[in-house]
Amino acid sequence: MTLASTIGDVARLPAASSPESRARCRSCGTALTHIVTDLGMSPLCESYLRADQLNDMEPFCPLVVYVCDRCFLVHLQEDVSGDEIFRDYAYFSSYSDSWLDHCRRYTDQMVVQLGLTPAHFVVEVASNDGYLLQYFVQRGIPCLGIEPARNVAAVASAKGVPTLPEFFGVGLARRLAKEGKKADLLLGKNVLAQVHDLNDFVAGLKILLKPHGTITFEFPHLMRLLEENQFDTIYHEHFSYLSFLSTETVFAAHGLTLFDVEEVPTHGGSLRVYARHAEDRTRSLSQRARQLREREIAAGVATLPYYEAFDGRVTATKRKLLEFLIAARAAGKIVVGYGAPGKGNTLLNYCGIRTDFVDYTVDRSPHKQGKYLPGTHIPIHAPERIFATRPDYLLILPWNLKDEIMTQLAGIRAWGGRFVVPIPEVAVSP
Ligand SMILES: [Zn+2]
Repeated sequence: MTLASTIGDVARLPAASSPESRARCRSCGTALTHIVTDLGMSPLCESYLRADQLNDMEPFCPLVVYVCDRCFLVHLQEDVSGDEIFRDYAYFSSYSDSWLDHCRRYTDQMVVQLGLTPAHFVVEVASNDGYLLQYFVQRGIPCLGIEPARNVAAVASAKGVPTLPEFFGVGLARRLAKEGKKADLLLGKNVLAQVHDLNDFVAGLKILLKPHGTITFEFPHLMRLLEENQFDTIYHEHFSYLSFLSTETVFAAHGLTLFDVEEVPTHGGSLRVYARHAEDRTRSLSQRARQLREREIAAGVATLPYYEAFDGRVTATKRKLLEFLIAARAAGKIVVGYGAPGKGNTLLNYCGIRTDFVDYTVDRSPHKQGKYLPGTHIPIHAPERIFATRPDYLLILPWNLKDEIMTQLAGIRAWGGRFVVPIPEVAVSP
């Protein structure tokens, strides 16, 4: 993606304040008038910069989260097109051990639960570099990945995971259905929350699912975001913030019924929802789905007051993190980051943290090393750099992986190095 093309695309967008651009709910079309939080202007958080791009203009877009007062879908307004984000997406899923473990366990569970054999067909939407489907390939179960980022799709195909480099929606679903490629298991890990045209996407799922097929989607749970202050998981690429109730509403509008749910620990607390055709009466609402529905209703997820206190907690967390960093730097301490996840970019940009506070960050992905974080221009190095420079504090940006990271890097304690976790509020390891 060139910056010139990015700026050109953004310049064509209508001004957010003009009446005709007033945001509308992506699910039910109601005008959006209730703001959950406003994180200000932020760059695209997966657009890592090369050294020769550091003096160029960067596109910044408003990061404002709305809640629809009719269907209670929580989402951003339309600012950046999906095409813009995905043209040269740098995120490769295969660089976290705990994430790969999660995917291997998911595969084992689905094979048993659904009785999958080589006679079945599995389709994953947003299959990334084949991090998950590789386990189905290993078991001889035919599968197909759909991944719009061409560079990432090419990596998957090269390792033997059949992958189409396309966007998913009604158009592609019809074509695949015509080719006899309907799915017994149709899944997506962290894609539902990233989809802009939610109605076209879910309508596509309906078309691609076999009559008795199963859909599973995972996404960060809105209740965890709000209750655990995970505001850094808000970024342009993460478009919707879903609850069981709002997802149920979107799916029901397209003839799909949620019938089960699991709460999984990934990404700070996610839901794995199970859906089927509304006409497929072979599976009824599970006990745990009924319980989660009741919990969300009791918490007030489908009422406006539930969303009111969040913005104040976000601001308080920003002040606490800055207080810590100012004190550390004033005492002559060195602070560096660990990781270069999208959520880190929201946190750093919203808090105004640049190399004046954090010298550099590190990431295991060679695709990010040597580049710079968008907006803050903090350099990204390989993890070995930590042991060469011996910082006093390591700020863990992917805090959802903090246990794994603190184990891998326990060696920093040799020189008195300490870990800092920013969310739900600043905590320094003993
Ligand atoms: Zn709505």
